[in-house]
Amino acid sequence: LQWDITLAWGYRTGAARHPHRAAIIDDDGVLTYAEVDERTSALAHAFHTGERVGLLCRNGRAFVETLTACTKIGADAVLLNTGLSAGQLAQVAREQRIDQLVADREFADVLPDVPTYFSDELDSLILNGPGTPLARRPPRGRLIVLTSGTTGAPKGAHRPEPASLAPAAALLSRIPLRYGDVISITSPLFHTWGLAAFQLSLVLGATLVLRRGFDPAQALKDAERCTAMFVVPVMLQRMLETPHRPKLRVIATSGSALPPKVTTRVLEEFGPVLYNLYGSTEVSWASIATPEEMLKEPGTAGKPPLGTRLAIVDDHGVPVAPGETGRIFVGNDMLFHGYTNGTGKESVDGLMSTGDLGYVKDGLLFVAGRDDEMIVSGGENVYPREVEDLLSTLDGVREVSVTGVPDDNFGQRLAAYVVGDESLTADRIRAHVKANLARFSVPRDVFFLDELPRNAAGKVVKRELREAPARGSGQPPAGS
Ligand code: ATP
Repeated sequence: LQWDITLAWGYRTGAARHPHRAAIIDDDGVLTYAEVDERTSALAHAFHTGERVGLLCRNGRAFVETLTACTKIGADAVLLNTGLSAGQLAQVAREQRIDQLVADREFADVLPDVPTYFSDELDSLILNGPGTPLARRPPRGRLIVLTSGTTGAPKGAHRPEPASLAPAAALLSRIPLRYGDVISITSPLFHTWGLAAFQLSLVLGATLVLRRGFDPAQALKDAERCTAMFVVPVMLQRMLETPHRPKLRVIATSGSALPPKVTTRVLEEFGPVLYNLYGSTEVSWASIATPEEMLKEPGTAGKPPLGTRLAIVDDHGVPVAPGETGRIFVGNDMLFHGYTNGTGKESVDGLMSTGDLGYVKDGLLFVAGRDDEMIVSGGENVYPREVEDLLSTLDGVREVSVTGVPDDNFGQRLAAYVVGDESLTADRIRAHVKANLARFSVPRDVFFLDELPRNAAGKVVKRELREAPARGSGQPPAGS
């Protein structure tokens, strides 16, 4: 028996080694490894080699089984973001040339004009499958993951399947996950982070706990029977608002910046079990921060795992001095194979741009934010994340996002969008920044929102902030 970790044969390997182990626990019950393997072989006959299958499913067996079935028959799988509108889905379906969809029925109203199986029909497809065995090695289907669409329309990215166990092994040398772990993945599986967590769980022969929607109380209840939990930062933030603190060995987070205040609270309240992974759809994971590193430096994204190279360079590609902020480039075995429109990401000497700025201090990486989100106000560079991290430490602030708006005098000025309690005022916000950061980092506009606009991957969509219904003030009086 070969140890095959590809999506197609991960369940076959698992079924041979531990057929009766629960593979998936979801809202519909429990499926063992043997069951998932058999069901996905039957389901594979519903698709065709070379066909493009779009998946529009929340976390659960339909997503996992459709993806596995596609790879077993050699169909391409396009992972669709469940937060997309009807118009966006129609555009993506056209651009990605999707032939067949598998969708949850709740999305019936937004579906593009493509033949569709609803996920509640998969059981009958499986039961009525022809039962003929599949070729052991179908031609490889492609895996297409959409970027989160944080900065514009989501882009289709060709994600390679891991060619060896090396990247997983490198990750496991920094995160104490074990064979047979019970892992709850609350981050969406269609997003690169949820997908990576799923692939890792196959390597570990893990039991996956999946829920269609995210409910903090439910997630914490599920965590009682889990050893590890994979989340995005905003989910951790929500979980901190409920009292339950189950014992876990690993809480792994990625996908967006983890506010240091959240880091510190999770480490205090859940124990030293938090791991922060920095990466993207294009470069996969680039660095990992361990609890020990975050206890010292709550804002850090840690160190690259074995086999990953990291460089911080200036605009000419020259490495900057330690501690200086520059552009983050990454090289590893997991770099993506380009966007589906034929374009790629800037690469130099095998290192790929992440589109982020950051610096390294005492061997630890700090991500300052996206290159294109940097604000230039009165000729000074301001990294919104620095202001966001500071403001999130102010009493009463629950969430905050800072962005630049055009300004006649300064080119750009800072606008802070704050979710918090009634005690907060624009003056308190400005005073807190003034007391701790440079004068040009003080937000002139301060708005209060009930919630920040986020996409389905839990990321703040900054370009929507200005349209969000807000209370509060624009610029303070001149001279203040
Ligand atoms: P789009 O490319 O469509 O705008 P996106 O860049 O948000 O979407 P992803 O690939 O999901 O798509 O996100 C990767 C980005 O998320 C990184 O480049 C980085 O800006 C941010 N990010 C991910 N993990 C972390 C982390 N641990 N700390 C800070 N930032 C992170």
